[in-house]
Amino acid sequence: MTRSSATPCVMYLMAGVADLAHEYDDPTLLAVCERLWANLVHQRMYLTGGIGPSRHNEGFTTDYDLPDESAYAETCASIALIMWNHRLLQFAGDGKYADIVEQTLYNGFISGVSLAGDSFFYVNPLASDGAHHRTPWFECPCCPPNVGRILASLGNYLYSTSDGGLWVHFYAQNSAHVTVDGQPVQVRLTSNYPWEGAVKLALTLDAPQHFALNLRIPGWCDEWAVTVNGAAVESTPASNGYVAITRTWQPDDVVDLDLAMPVQAVYANPNVRHMQGRLALQRGPIVFCMEGVDNDNIGLDRVTLDPAQVAGFRVEQQPEMLGGVVVLRGSAQAITEEGWDNQTLYRRNQPSSVAALDVVAVPYATWDNRTPGEMRVWFRAG
Ligand SMILES: [Zn+2]
Repeated sequence: MTRSSATPCVMYLMAGVADLAHEYDDPTLLAVCERLWANLVHQRMYLTGGIGPSRHNEGFTTDYDLPDESAYAETCASIALIMWNHRLLQFAGDGKYADIVEQTLYNGFISGVSLAGDSFFYVNPLASDGAHHRTPWFECPCCPPNVGRILASLGNYLYSTSDGGLWVHFYAQNSAHVTVDGQPVQVRLTSNYPWEGAVKLALTLDAPQHFALNLRIPGWCDEWAVTVNGAAVESTPASNGYVAITRTWQPDDVVDLDLAMPVQAVYANPNVRHMQGRLALQRGPIVFCMEGVDNDNIGLDRVTLDPAQVAGFRVEQQPEMLGGVVVLRGSAQAITEEGWDNQTLYRRNQPSSVAALDVVAVPYATWDNRTPGEMRVWFRAG
C-alpha cells in the first residue's frame, strides 16, 4: 500500500480485483489480494475495523501507525473493507475474512450512523475530547447513502451455500430461505447476538437431506459448544474456522451453538507506539469505550485498568439504554489533581491516584448519542 492511497478507493479497487480473480480463476490476482489483506489486517487496521489513519489524504501511512485521537478511519473505508472481505469469504470459505467483516460491522462501520439514523460520522476516531460529533450531512456526502446500502444488503452476508454445504457466517437473528443442492432449506436463527452468545438454528426441510452445516466459530471466541436436538456433537473447527456438521438432516432438526462471551482485555502489537502499555475492552465482537457522561467526566486519559480486574467486569443488559445494549461496569484507578494547581506544570513528586474508581464502558459504536463529552477506547494498563 502506498502513502497516497485513499482508503475507500483502495478497498473498492480490491473488491474488483477479487471479483476478477474469481471470474478468471487468476491466482496472481488472488495472491495480490492475500498480500494486501495480510498487510492491512496485521499492520494497519484499527481494533474497530477502521482503516486509514491520515486526515491529510484519507489514506494509509506506514505500518503500525495507528493513532487513536487523530484516526481518520472514514466510514466508507470500513464499508469498502466489508465489501472486499465479503467477496474473499465467498471465494475461499475462510472465517478469517468473516472475522474482519464482523469486527468492522459491529464497530467502526455502524459507529458511522447515529442511533436515530439521522446523522453521520465521516471520521471515526478512537478517542475524542468531546468536540467530534455526527452531522446530518456533509460536503462530501458519500457515507449516508453508503451506510444505507450496507444496512439494506445485510441479508446477503449471513449465509452461503456450496455443493453439499450450508454456511452460517453471522449470527444476527433472522429467518432465511436458501437452496442446498437444489433443495429448499428454511433456517430460523434465534439469538440475542452480539449481546449474548447463545444461537439457535431451526431447520425446516421438505424431506431428509444430507449436507454439511458449517458454523463459524469467531476468531474472538475461545470456548463454544454445539448440540443437535440437545445432543452434543463434535465441534472442533477446521483450519477455516468453521465447524462442519455433516449428516442427513431431518425436517425439524434444531442446532444450538453456545459461544462463550467473557469480557476480554485486548493489547496491540508493541510496534504500535500509540498503544504501548495500553489495553482495550472487548466482549464478543463488540469493542467498548468509555464516555464522560457515564464516568463523571473524570478525564478518561487518566484512567488505568488492571488487566486482572477486567475479566471481573460486570456485564449488564441495558434494554432502555442506547437502543438496548450491554454495558460493562468495573473498578479502575485514576490519577487525581490532588496537590496540583494552575501554577504547577511540573513537580518532583509523583501524582497520586484514586485506587478504586467505578467505571462504565459502552459499545464504541454507540458513542456520541447522548450528552457530548470525551470518549476513549484504549486505556493505560496497570
Ligand atoms: Zn464516506
